[in-house]
Amino acid sequence: MIMRTEDVLRYRAETPGCADVVHFNNAGSALPPEPVVDTVVAYLRDEARRGGYELADAEADRVEAVYGSVARLLNAQPDDIALTDNATRSWQAVFYAMRFEPGDRILTCRSEYASNAIAYLQVARHTGAVVEVVDDDETGQVDVADLRHRLDERVKLISITHVPTQGGLVNPAEEIGEVAAEADVPFLLDACQSAGQLDLDVRRLRCDALSATGRKYLRGPRGTGFLYVSPRLRDRLEPAMLDLHSATWTAPGEYEVEKTARKFEVWERNFGLVLGLGAAVDYALEVGLPAIEGRVTALAATLREQLRALDGVTVHDQGKRQCGIVTFSTDRLPAADVKDRLALAGINTSVSRRTSAQYDFTGRDLPDLVRASVHYYNTEDEVRQLTGELTRLLS
Ligand SMILES: *Cc1c(COP(=O)(O)O)cnc(C)c1O
Repeated sequence: MIMRTEDVLRYRAETPGCADVVHFNNAGSALPPEPVVDTVVAYLRDEARRGGYELADAEADRVEAVYGSVARLLNAQPDDIALTDNATRSWQAVFYAMRFEPGDRILTCRSEYASNAIAYLQVARHTGAVVEVVDDDETGQVDVADLRHRLDERVKLISITHVPTQGGLVNPAEEIGEVAAEADVPFLLDACQSAGQLDLDVRRLRCDALSATGRKYLRGPRGTGFLYVSPRLRDRLEPAMLDLHSATWTAPGEYEVEKTARKFEVWERNFGLVLGLGAAVDYALEVGLPAIEGRVTALAATLREQLRALDGVTVHDQGKRQCGIVTFSTDRLPAADVKDRLALAGINTSVSRRTSAQYDFTGRDLPDLVRASVHYYNTEDEVRQLTGELTRLLS
């Protein structure tokens, strides 16, 4: 689906940061649109005037509506959604609720994110469970046939990253979901980089749980995130930690755990940020996820094409299907220097390092990578600015 130029210009006009920087760090933290900033700031001002509890009571319906917005984004039900501080807390809430025994197998992917891998290794160390990395196919995505071969009754979890932090790869999550569903193995999907740039639908993905953050492609405030948990999985899981919001102290010696996905939340949170997240999700829904996905994918493909034409530049993105994250290295300058020099020219990028994805960096023996992650509000002209500046740097 094509996004019209006049719409892109309008979205840019509604994004104050577009006037100040060329922002290609959307996989780090995207520029928020005005409605998001205004929502958060207005709420904080009201809170200071009226009192935190009093305002939260008065705004309860608006807060409740955020669950509906996130549910719409994922084609889920509001009861399937927990609102959290970030993607990591969302993911941990599900993973650390699972119980593993010696010999249980956790299947993950080569492009897996550091925090998730560290959690597997910790749990493996403490329980005797085994972490296994499923092979990639020749395009660099998860090899679904290899995944299928590995399944047996000891496999207790399939847990993969949809879009990795370190590249444009989109893993075949729907096919993985189908395999997981057939084998009746829980499927946990890290959608931190895909939420807000790809059209996600938990029924199509057939995941049992999905975690994401607010600040990346969704353009929400920092310090926000959410979690989807299917009714089936949440019935089987008791959170590792409970409080008076995720459970009720029903009698001096008893408690009852919440039934909805809110059992993975805690009571205290920043309601201004929660509403800001809701505003970001509503904004994305209004722009339209198919249109966002189409534009982000096309713009990133243009950037890759221009980078490949430069002498001494190597593009490292893998996958049959690719998205808005573009990674490259140069034979002249280390990634950190490229990033710093681009920043001097008003162009934001970031650096992906081995410690953020050991399986992938070690497997492919990659150097540090410059990551330029495009969004729909970026323009073809900004892409040319980036590659033009890079040409100057390398000449
Ligand atoms: C950024 C990232 C995370 C962590 O998200 P936070 O919001 O920082 O907790 C998890 N997975 C992937 C793939 C990421 O890129």
